[in-house]
Amino acid sequence: MLIDFHTHIFPEKIAEKSIAALEAGIRNIQGADYRKGEALTCRPATLDGLLDSMQRSHVDLSICLPIATKPSQTAHINDYAETVRDARTISFGTVHPADPDAPAVLADLKRRGFLGIKLHLQFQQYDIDSPEVIRILQAAESLGLLVIFHAGADIGLPPPVYTSPDKIRHALDFVSGENLIAAHLGGWDQWDMVEEYLVGTPIFLDTAYIAQFLPPEQCLRIIRNHGADKVLFGSDSPWEDPADTLQYLRSIGLTDGELEQITHRNAERILGI
Ligand SMILES: [Zn+2]
Repeated sequence: MLIDFHTHIFPEKIAEKSIAALEAGIRNIQGADYRKGEALTCRPATLDGLLDSMQRSHVDLSICLPIATKPSQTAHINDYAETVRDARTISFGTVHPADPDAPAVLADLKRRGFLGIKLHLQFQQYDIDSPEVIRILQAAESLGLLVIFHAGADIGLPPPVYTSPDKIRHALDFVSGENLIAAHLGGWDQWDMVEEYLVGTPIFLDTAYIAQFLPPEQCLRIIRNHGADKVLFGSDSPWEDPADTLQYLRSIGLTDGELEQITHRNAERILGI
């Protein structure tokens, strides 16, 4: 059993355009020659593309994570997200911190059967410990919704970093953290800060988009010190192939028991399946 907790899809009509814009953002930040002549994605960014890739990589269930970059997009995105819910794919919902009705949006998502939401504060431009986001985290906690959020720098967006490990730690002054999942093992490209501020806290960490960037020994140390019972397999597909994520995790020295927890047992527990 393999559960990929961190994937992205777009509706057919906008998938290609959306990926092109994101790739342009990456080459804008990383330099025009970054992986020159290469596609930065491993599959079409549609539901069908995801399902094909899951078959190839032997993924049984994928969690899809949509992102509203403007409050006005929220309703539309959540309507689409609600259609992505079956035995192989479950979409979370989205909310924007600038939305004055954010807590009501969350209550509505809960009523419609969503299991959680995604925040990407690097796009949404709010600090995770800002009052607007704390209000969302508190509402999600009281409703029993999971919150997965981009953490650390973003390969395609400029500083400041709105969800750095120290800011995540500060947010934990206001919520328990037990329903929170920090992507990219707690902070993309900020793993020393993850070790300083987040290791051992109650939050979950996912393994999305770290395989090419995080030295194996530091990954193993973070997972062991944090607790393999609070780490979730995630690839960030289409940005990373889940087969590559799995190969990386199998190569860093985890025990079979730890791999079982990370690849599906922890996810089954928090998804209630
Ligand atoms: Zn992602």
